[in-house]
Amino acid sequence: MPRRAGAGESNAVADFTILRAMTTERSDLPRVPRDQGDDYSAEAIEARRRVLREATGVELAHVAGGSVPATEARGKVENFVGHAQVPIGVAGPLAFESDEGPVAVYVPMATTEGAMVASYSRGMRLAASGAGIRTRVLADGLSQHPVLVFADAAAAHAAADVCAASLDDCRAITKSITSHGALASIATQVVGRRLILRMVFTTGDAIGINMAARATDLCLAELARRTDALERHVHGQDVEKRANARALVEGRGRGVVADCVVPRDALADLARTTPDAMVAIGRTYATGYAQLGTQNWTVQAANGLGAVFLACGQDVAYLTECATGFLDLERTAAGDLYVAVTLPSLLVGTVGGGSGQGTAAECLALMDCLGAGKARRFAQVLAATVLAGDLSLMAAFTAHEFSGAHERLGRNRPGAGGPAEGAR
Ligand code: NAP
Repeated sequence: MPRRAGAGESNAVADFTILRAMTTERSDLPRVPRDQGDDYSAEAIEARRRVLREATGVELAHVAGGSVPATEARGKVENFVGHAQVPIGVAGPLAFESDEGPVAVYVPMATTEGAMVASYSRGMRLAASGAGIRTRVLADGLSQHPVLVFADAAAAHAAADVCAASLDDCRAITKSITSHGALASIATQVVGRRLILRMVFTTGDAIGINMAARATDLCLAELARRTDALERHVHGQDVEKRANARALVEGRGRGVVADCVVPRDALADLARTTPDAMVAIGRTYATGYAQLGTQNWTVQAANGLGAVFLACGQDVAYLTECATGFLDLERTAAGDLYVAVTLPSLLVGTVGGGSGQGTAAECLALMDCLGAGKARRFAQVLAATVLAGDLSLMAAFTAHEFSGAHERLGRNRPGAGGPAEGAR
């Protein structure tokens, strides 16, 4: 039975006590080994791979340098000449309570920003110091925004009814070209003599853009015929791969929220800061974001998402939409820190695109996020990761430790060989 909230304590905060008991996976994963002397020696690297192998059962043959056959690039790239190389580190363990139950993973991150993986790992420890992170998938639907053009606004307005009445026929068209994609809804908006459609598809475990774009093209041709449209444009309102208001307000792909309460003692011990300092800096940043007119109200969603996307074969150009969202920092009635991250537009897949081969498949498998039935889990891993990263970075800012950490872990002067071995 959930513990009831005490006076002045919200139910949401009280529920974390129960979740702590439920998150049994948490203690099962060992810490990622580090060698204080030389953390980049063959032995140190092999020690980490061995821990990952024994904990997850995944052999990192490609990540460890095995070659990926050139034939696996077919359908992914033209004029193929080879593979880019970006170093991969693992953050974590990251444990949280998803809407499918407890999750505990190591998070592979491909990046060249020194200090970043260390910061995400610290955030994961901080977030686990209380009752832990909880995640929920809020929405699931890939929208397409084609446009029909008419002679005047009255014709566009009349066409809106025709489009709405054609939903079942468009569903049938969609079904004819994909078994995993389905058309959920069609909404319309008249702007002058143009009719903007919002067609929302469920896409199984793929991002689904190929299937949705093809279905939209076919449906739009039929709708243009039925409405006598003068022009049709399949990406007429082009939300694709750009920061936009729809991404923040309506969401596209999977919308996910993650939150947790960090006890003030843990904040002091692990990050040398306080809930009040975190809330205060959150307000300052929000003022800045409002003035900037940005759609990204998190501190560093693009960092964590970008690194996991690169490691896991995601389409990194979608970062423009995915790194849209909100960070909340609040003081609880008990004087601890409440943290929430909301990401309305996660466009990610565990099937299709670049997810199924080589290093990407291994990195997804490391988190048990590879293949059918795993996209929901993957989206929640990403939201929990973003929360951990934002928590750690904001704490570093309040403690004035940010630039010092980069100086120690991330400075790479040409010819100088990078930061000193063993720098922490
Ligand atoms: P995809 O690789 O084109 O398609 C995945 C296919 O896997 C689906 O068509 C589906 O077949 C099949 N499938 C099997 N099991 C599935 C499951 N459990 N859930 C979902 N599908 C399953 O992947 P995509 O996500 O549609 O497209 C992503 C790729 O498109 C990326 O490489 C991306 O860079 C690229 N892209 C395309 C466009 C565009 O406008 N077309 C734009 C940007 C990026 P069925 O359809 O037969 O069910």
